[in-house]
Amino acid sequence: MLLDSHAHFDIILDKVKNTTEDELVKNLKYSNIQYALQVSTEVQGLEWSRDFAVRNAQNGIRYTAGIHPSSSAEENELDAFVKFVESEMDGKNRKLLLGIGECGLDYFRMHQTKETQIRSFELQIDTAKKYRLPLIIHTRDSLEEGIKILKNKNANKGIMHCFSGDENTARDVLDLGFFISFAGNVTYKNAANLHEAAKYVPLDRLLLETDSPFLSPVPLRGKDNFPEYVKHTYKFIAKLKNISMQKLEDAVMENYETLL
Ligand SMILES: [Zn+2]
Repeated sequence: MLLDSHAHFDIILDKVKNTTEDELVKNLKYSNIQYALQVSTEVQGLEWSRDFAVRNAQNGIRYTAGIHPSSSAEENELDAFVKFVESEMDGKNRKLLLGIGECGLDYFRMHQTKETQIRSFELQIDTAKKYRLPLIIHTRDSLEEGIKILKNKNANKGIMHCFSGDENTARDVLDLGFFISFAGNVTYKNAANLHEAAKYVPLDRLLLETDSPFLSPVPLRGKDNFPEYVKHTYKFIAKLKNISMQKLEDAVMENYETLL
């Protein structure tokens, strides 16, 4: 069985014409996907993510609560985030809330000031630690600083999502205690550094994802991405690591169940 450790179903439904929730969820089943994680990116989407997970829990949908570094993080939004997590962790659907994120730093897009991004990130790290939830981390042009903040906060449980560094940065992330999740961009022909990193990451620290609707793997590069396309990334990694699909599937499943 496959899984998708990072997808944005709300953005798929919003961005891709003629898709329905029903169809997206049915496709998981047809595609042998046991779990798909709906990753929240803004305070305004938290309730939708939870309700989506509640509606589709029997189809393997779980969710995370987080504020993406490019999303607005005003004082009242940070308060609302904390309150949401607090009440969900106390409520009847707590088993569906598997992590905090995606959070982190994005110094490429800079939709928010560095100050805002860091404050939002640190608050989410504290929240994750309080409830012993793993963090789902996004960094862009900011991996070093992100690692520094995580170290300062003694955060050692989480996923570096859509990993895009090389072998050395993979080592730093593994040293933190984090898992590394590869998305469709690892299948790109010119991503030599990423191929080295994927070879290097041990099987017991590896996760795979789509980040759909973004970053479709080869041979669908450039098209809208869907959770079922994660199979192309599985195939690519199995070949790269020279192991059977079954072995890879089992390892990724075990990691997901251990961490999340
Ligand atoms: Zn994402």
